[in-house]
Amino acid sequence: MPKKIAAPPPETQPSPRPFAYRNRLLHCDGADLTSLAAEHGTPLYVYSAQQISHRFQLFAEAFASRPHTICYAVKANSSLAILRLLAKQRAGFDIVSGGELERVRKAHKPALKKVVFSGVGKQIWEIDAALNADILLFNVESEAELHLLAARAEACNKVAPFALRVNPDVFAETHPYISTGLSEHKFGIDIKAARAIYRSAKKTKWLDPAGVSVHIGSQIRKVDPFAAALTRVTSLIADLRKDGHNIRYVDAGGGLGVDYGATAFDPAKQVAKYAAALTKSLGEESAHLLLEPGRFIIAQAGALLTRVLYVKKNGTKTFIITDAGMNDLIRPALYHAHHEIIPIKQPTGKSTLTADIVGPVCESGDFFARDRTLPPVKPNDLVLLLDAGAYGMSQTSNYNSRPRPAEILIDGDITKLIRRRETMRDLLAPELL
Ligand SMILES: *Cc1c(COP(=O)(O)O)cnc(C)c1O
Repeated sequence: MPKKIAAPPPETQPSPRPFAYRNRLLHCDGADLTSLAAEHGTPLYVYSAQQISHRFQLFAEAFASRPHTICYAVKANSSLAILRLLAKQRAGFDIVSGGELERVRKAHKPALKKVVFSGVGKQIWEIDAALNADILLFNVESEAELHLLAARAEACNKVAPFALRVNPDVFAETHPYISTGLSEHKFGIDIKAARAIYRSAKKTKWLDPAGVSVHIGSQIRKVDPFAAALTRVTSLIADLRKDGHNIRYVDAGGGLGVDYGATAFDPAKQVAKYAAALTKSLGEESAHLLLEPGRFIIAQAGALLTRVLYVKKNGTKTFIITDAGMNDLIRPALYHAHHEIIPIKQPTGKSTLTADIVGPVCESGDFFARDRTLPPVKPNDLVLLLDAGAYGMSQTSNYNSRPRPAEILIDGDITKLIRRRETMRDLLAPELL
């Protein structure tokens, strides 16, 4: 049952993070994290519905002057409750698998018609499911995929609306694992080859060339690469119109970054800059704009609450061992990502310690921070890993046979368990002996 808590003090401009100290204890909006940990255990993902909605509205307002649909990237955080929260604000969804399609169907069925389907490796069953769900747009990433899409559309007796995901060959300054817009990457179709492929699609009545799409990567902090990519896309659309294609959608992808550091960050300013850059690149182009933000909407709305198990010294180094590990949050191990780590009890003094914050998993890559200076913590203390809302829970695994964490959504004065902690039974359920 959702539980009522004291309403948080009204704020006109929510801070970029919903986590703040009240009476020296860390809260998420109105909810006291110490009590949440006592009731639900740790590790525990905690999200603020208010912050998620706020970020979504920032996007909606920034693009209010032109027809657009914000297709939230499901892979950033695919919790059904969060998908439903966004669907109720009229979000569409960017999916990359048949599994994500099922999540959208379950969260809010009418949103299926606002789904765009991206991904370099779509399988027949996934294409068929999306065709039969009458999604908005297939973002096609190769010529071979386009041929398969035409064949499946005919088999399903559906006309497939598609956009080619073009590779604009622009450099986006981000981690190499999440940069996608250079010709050396596996993503998209060389923008120079696109026009001929659209032309070939005219040969079949089962394909509807409805748009052009681009996505250059993730956690991109400067807006210039987005603008450069969209300028190339806009000029391609002009050519496609000359060729007689009825292009209705321009999909600008996702990838707008957030600030994972301790410094102040103004999300409203960031999204305004982004919108201005995209709008400028689009010029007179009137196609319906599709946006696919993931991280920007959800990263800072969520955090991972974990308990300190042990503090130990090896030679000169101190290790803080938490009950969360790389299977619960893989970003530091995978991308060397930075997460701020703060104690649940507001520190009173100025003393600090420098330590590696690590998980229990049997890998040296299982760390959350190295040589991090933070207020002294001792076993049984709770700490919070900030900005873990995106690519946190959605990248969890059962590695080391560890059950996945539970998830809590704070919605105004309601605290809701949106995913229970996995049990030993869950862990062993799919296996046959
Ligand atoms: C991952 C992805 C997104 C979302 O990226 P963010 O950095 O989370 O905004 C959007 N579109 C496509 C095609 C993606 O692969």
